[in-house]
Amino acid sequence: MIKYHSTNKKSKKVSFKTALFKGQAPDKGLFMPDRLPKFSQREINSMRRLKFPQIAFLILKKFLKGEIPEKTLKEITQKAFNFDLPIEKVSLNLFVLRLDRGPTASFKDFGARFLAKCMEYFLKKEKKKMVILVATSGDTGSAVAQAFYGIENVKVVVLFPEKEVVKNQRKQITTLGGNIISVAIKGKFDDCQAMVKKAFADAQLKHLNLSSANSINVARLIPQITYYFFAFCKICKRGEKVIFSVPCGNFGNLTAGIFAKRMGLPVFKFVAAVNENDEFPRFLETGKYKPLIPSKKCLSNAMNIGHPSNLARIVEIYGGRMDETGKILKPPDMNALKKEIWSTKITDKETKEAIKSAFQKYHLVLEPHGAVAWRALEKFLEKEKIHFPAVVLETAHLGKFPEILKDLLKIKIEIPSSIKNSLKKKEKFEILPPNYEEFKEFLKSVIPSHSKAPL
Ligand SMILES: *Cc1c(COP(=O)(O)O)cnc(C)c1O
Repeated sequence: MIKYHSTNKKSKKVSFKTALFKGQAPDKGLFMPDRLPKFSQREINSMRRLKFPQIAFLILKKFLKGEIPEKTLKEITQKAFNFDLPIEKVSLNLFVLRLDRGPTASFKDFGARFLAKCMEYFLKKEKKKMVILVATSGDTGSAVAQAFYGIENVKVVVLFPEKEVVKNQRKQITTLGGNIISVAIKGKFDDCQAMVKKAFADAQLKHLNLSSANSINVARLIPQITYYFFAFCKICKRGEKVIFSVPCGNFGNLTAGIFAKRMGLPVFKFVAAVNENDEFPRFLETGKYKPLIPSKKCLSNAMNIGHPSNLARIVEIYGGRMDETGKILKPPDMNALKKEIWSTKITDKETKEAIKSAFQKYHLVLEPHGAVAWRALEKFLEKEKIHFPAVVLETAHLGKFPEILKDLLKIKIEIPSSIKNSLKKKEKFEILPPNYEEFKEFLKSVIPSHSKAPL
């Protein structure tokens, strides 16, 4: 069984199940697998003829041995990844992997859906109930709400700032109904987050068994390893290595890629593409890490992160230690880091130019997140002249940015059916003031007490 330790090294090691339900380690560190399963080149070669859910199963099986029975895990992977994973060939050695075909049209569906299905399994087995509480300004809330929609034993309460969430995004949360409870707060995102934090710390709510399912959960990271293997198997010939260009925000996606390499995948280089929030490339260049506060607002909005939470994990992989505030307690091996990862910042102006030039040159349509990765890869290849296949990860659906693309490319973009359907449905949500006591009464009124003790 693989155990999970904390990047802060002060908490004891735990099982996958405990890491899944705790989310964050008690010492405020992030959970990391104690060891990574290895795949030989022969094993990787034999994956070439398999479909994505089968490849995913082979990888996840090694992580979950002794915790989830194989038969159940197979069902979980099939249900969690029940959408397409297209690879677009752009030129001889350039590919785009579209990770945006899940129900909320972003790659976050991979992590959120796998996590939700794992929680469902353990809760059912132990006949327990749970409440997921999330504060959101858009993307995360809808991915989590969708992932848990219809799962018995779980209620999801999503808090969002009444005036700060655009209608299309709000509708993806508020039209679900069933076990998803939506609350608009007459305040800012920070008010929502503060109320959620208070609820987690409130002893009088212990009986509700609150959990966060937030993006630092290691159970969201592990399933993201799988599509790196898939892309390699579908693109590379024997003996070739691959280059991945990853649009980074909290660096979870990149961390999963580095895991894949450590597990045996022949990766030549990772390009860590960032927007104007460039604390990571500056860190690689200077060896000094300084969070960017406040973060900058760019077109690729899901990447507007000034202090990426997964850096602590990356620093640990390279032999260093970073605490939750971003302080480096032990420097990582900067040479090894720079050998495996190249990073650059792409401005909004360059992002727009990249969207235009990719379309003119290749008839390739990219949205801002993918365009940042595309332009960063171009910069890397201009510099290095390497002839390995290179894959750009496209993390959001084009249909999330119809105005920008219409403006730049003069084309009409089809809205994905998952989003279109939610636009037609009726919304239901409560409106509350940014007052914790009122929110608490509301919580108690909508969620009947669970009979079983928390996990
Ligand atoms: C979250 C997100 C990212 C950033 O991913 P990280 O794993 O946080 O680096 C990139 N693109 C989109 C569309 C996202 O939603």
